[in-house]
Amino acid sequence: EHRSKGEAEFLQSVHEVLDTLTPVLAEHPDFIEAGILDRLVEPERQLIFRVPWTDDSNRVRVNRGFRVQFNSALGPFKGGLRFHPSVNLSVIKFLGFEQIFKNALTSQRIGAGKGGSDFDPSGKSDAEVMRFCQSFMMELVHHIGEDTDIPAGDIGVGAREIGYLFGQYRRITQRYESGVLTGKGVGWGGAEGRTEATGYGAVFFAEEMLQRAGRGIDGLRVLVSGSGNVATYAIDKVQQLGGTAITASDSSGYIVDEAGIDLALLKQIKEVERARISEYAERRSGSHFVASGSVWDVRGDVALPCATQNELNASHARALVAGGVQAVAEGANMPTTPDGIELFQAAGVLFAPGKAANAGGVATSALEMSQNAARSRWDREKSESRLHGIMRDVHEATYAASERYGRPGDYVLGANSAAFVTVAQAMLEQGVI
Ligand code: NDP
Repeated sequence: EHRSKGEAEFLQSVHEVLDTLTPVLAEHPDFIEAGILDRLVEPERQLIFRVPWTDDSNRVRVNRGFRVQFNSALGPFKGGLRFHPSVNLSVIKFLGFEQIFKNALTSQRIGAGKGGSDFDPSGKSDAEVMRFCQSFMMELVHHIGEDTDIPAGDIGVGAREIGYLFGQYRRITQRYESGVLTGKGVGWGGAEGRTEATGYGAVFFAEEMLQRAGRGIDGLRVLVSGSGNVATYAIDKVQQLGGTAITASDSSGYIVDEAGIDLALLKQIKEVERARISEYAERRSGSHFVASGSVWDVRGDVALPCATQNELNASHARALVAGGVQAVAEGANMPTTPDGIELFQAAGVLFAPGKAANAGGVATSALEMSQNAARSRWDREKSESRLHGIMRDVHEATYAASERYGRPGDYVLGANSAAFVTVAQAMLEQGVI
């Protein structure tokens, strides 16, 4: 802890994992002897760099860039870039640490990393975003490559930013190294279905949990937070499976649409116009916008937190349980606080942690890397059916580990222990490095 003083989010994510590993470690004194835990919590490499750029009025601006290469025991470092004013080393380290376990659960032979910047893309022109991305890549180029470290998107980094980053990488290196970034446009090396993968995957996972408990998402009221990439496609898949997604949010508030979110309108407002969520209520009759409080004040059968870390706390969890929530699947990374998780589990609510439930995005990114390496391109049906298969496998592996370590249905224990054993075994076999 002394090395990570003040890194609240990182320490929270480490505690959340270590607190569940007692039964695994009891069976594996070899992991302790080999110093696996001490090595696991220390990133292999951490980079912090200056990102200077000029805004549209020719003023020089400076942001801070990060790339944390956390663990490469299973494969090259892999994980997204986040552009948001709240980004700092603690946030990037927590995301990188989570990524180790998530990537292991996908069985896709990818290590873990994460990066980003405290740059705020909101309200910036395309030209400003481009200049920022180009400057960011001037440094990142020295540390990434299709066999070393493969960044992707996250909050504030979507297809537009990946395009600018890839263009600059290609220009500096003078190579068309398709596999160096994932989340590319489908016309130039991107995988069909990558945009939808995280949201779809989270709903597939929720559906697996519900089916194991004897029902499906069909006919249920589903609460979704966020209105970005993950939230949008979670809403899409919920509606395809016969559920009714009735909420969406952004940092200004949330909307409720009892008839079910109009996906085309949501996409027009958030993806095309990049406007605020309140706009939705103005254009859709029967829906309303709430500027205060939280989406978790609404009653629902299933909750899918898809915005950001620590957005669902104990009092939200209490309200959801009182409203009869049956399942919670985390589309975002660490959206539920530890006391919120405890409350759900004590109330018998099915609870899927992000490292299992949102693994579909990075899994599809790994499929994008495979297609780039083979210079091939799969169609949408094949991509989605592979994603569905992977999410079923992640659910199975997670459930099996929860049984094996004595708490059937505890998906937190299941995800942490199954992933930990995979990574720890690889680290053990590769020696003290
Ligand atoms: P986007 O940038 O596309 O969307 C983020 C959404 O969350 C926006 O609606 C944003 O609102 C909202 N949000 C962000 N911060 C806050 C906040 N502090 N309070 C309230 N709302 C907030 O990001 P993604 O959809 O890609 O990512 C969402 C989550 O999913 C993150 O936790 C990310 O790490 C995780 N994730 C993403 C993956 C992916 O493939 N993209 C893969 C796995 C996990 P506003 O616009 O107002 O900021």
